Amino acid sequence: MTSPITGLLALAVLAACAAPPARLAPALAADTVPQLRIAVPRDSARLARVIASGMRSDAALDDLRYLTDVIGPRLTGSDAMTRAAEWMADRLRAAGADSVWMEPITLDGWERGPIALRLVAPQTRWIAGASAGWAPGTNGAVAGDVVFVDARTLADFERRFAGRLRSAWVMTRAPMPMFDAFAPSPADSARVRAAREALFARPAGAEELAFLAVRDSLLVAEGAAGTLSSGDKERGLLTMFGTPLAPSRLPSVIVSHETFSQLHRLLSSGERVRLEADVRNRLTGPRTAMSVIADWRGASRPGEIVLLGAHLDSWDLATGATDDGAGAVAVTNALRLLAATGERADRTIRVALFTGEEQGLLGSRAYTARHAAELSRHQAVLVVDNGSGRVAGITLQGRDDLRAMWQQLFAPLDSLGPFTVRAGVRTGSDHLPFLREQVPAYLLVQEWRSYDWTWHTQVDTFDHAISGDLRQLSTVLASLAWGLARADRLIPR
Ligand SMILES: [Zn+2]
Repeated sequence: MTSPITGLLALAVLAACAAPPARLAPALAADTVPQLRIAVPRDSARLARVIASGMRSDAALDDLRYLTDVIGPRLTGSDAMTRAAEWMADRLRAAGADSVWMEPITLDGWERGPIALRLVAPQTRWIAGASAGWAPGTNGAVAGDVVFVDARTLADFERRFAGRLRSAWVMTRAPMPMFDAFAPSPADSARVRAAREALFARPAGAEELAFLAVRDSLLVAEGAAGTLSSGDKERGLLTMFGTPLAPSRLPSVIVSHETFSQLHRLLSSGERVRLEADVRNRLTGPRTAMSVIADWRGASRPGEIVLLGAHLDSWDLATGATDDGAGAVAVTNALRLLAATGERADRTIRVALFTGEEQGLLGSRAYTARHAAELSRHQAVLVVDNGSGRVAGITLQGRDDLRAMWQQLFAPLDSLGPFTVRAGVRTGSDHLPFLREQVPAYLLVQEWRSYDWTWHTQVDTFDHAISGDLRQLSTVLASLAWGLARADRLIPR
């Protein structure tokens, strides 16, 4: 999830990973939409066997443990990402895929080095923080004043800040008010909600957008040391961002919400605040990263494809267990569960483990370009990218005429529900490039669990995978893919 301000800076292309809750259209309007006639065979006995074996198996959890604890963070373009792609390709072959191949992308690589941050005034203490991705280092320790640049127009910036930012560490917005995660009172939550809404109440006008578009260049020209931003989550969490599509021109340091708030309070009360930072990152030049694609061939319509997708790349502060290792092992396990029954579906079921999702859906965008000629024969795309939580349903992505089809697809899964099929649009992951090509593409609705705290942070680790939910997730994926691969016709565009 990009911060709202980052979003203003035309980084809307960035993958969100934690897509915001679906925007829901009124249920009544959707219910009146005429439904497309698509028949999905129930295949009850066969799916009962898939459900029974899926709900007994911890194969996905075992894969996730190796992927995260042994292989570790999978930053796009890193050696670990390549190792993960090769290992998952082996897992897909062992799971029963007929063919497995790599689809490379190239990007400018980036390597994280050590960081040291020290508050030197008005108190001295070491603080925790991390460089944003694809941001440069500092060339040694740089001490400077922390300055809150709250200008919203070029004229205001020039009047108040021009000539005053040499070696400064620049904050560009106030801290986000935080909800109490544990037993909040309704009054507290209402107060925080109102404070958050107030922060974004006024949409940016043309003058402000024009200023935001050049703000980084102005900071470079002024000789600022770098920028400071907040993890925007409580209890010390750092939330990573950054992409080679829009690399930061200045060192960019993320500190915890609590540290950020302290700095902001100090500045608000007129204290001089100084920070020393030594940030050592390296831009490595062109690197290759691989998406892994695997087919389990259909029996009678092998040229038509049901695609189960997740992203194998991750941010690098932790081991990428919920974002999106869980999705990668779940779609792999869905293929395993289906192949193990020995009976093929009509259509091909394809697993895609995309790379570069975190840097702007690079792998899935490359896939839709490379496979442009066969996208019209993609029956549907189901993407998993919200952790290991159980499947709770689907949002229709504007295809309210497919509600009846989705109800048929979920029908054999009664014992694993409840599921809701609702109008709405979800963004923020690898289904988006497919939607642009008119392919019916979905981001599965999952129970959120601890995903808000884990995504892009230093605690996205195996601990937060939930065994029972991961079984349900794999099993539901297998059953939905089977139904889509058996439906009596291709979904009309
Ligand atoms: Zn993700």
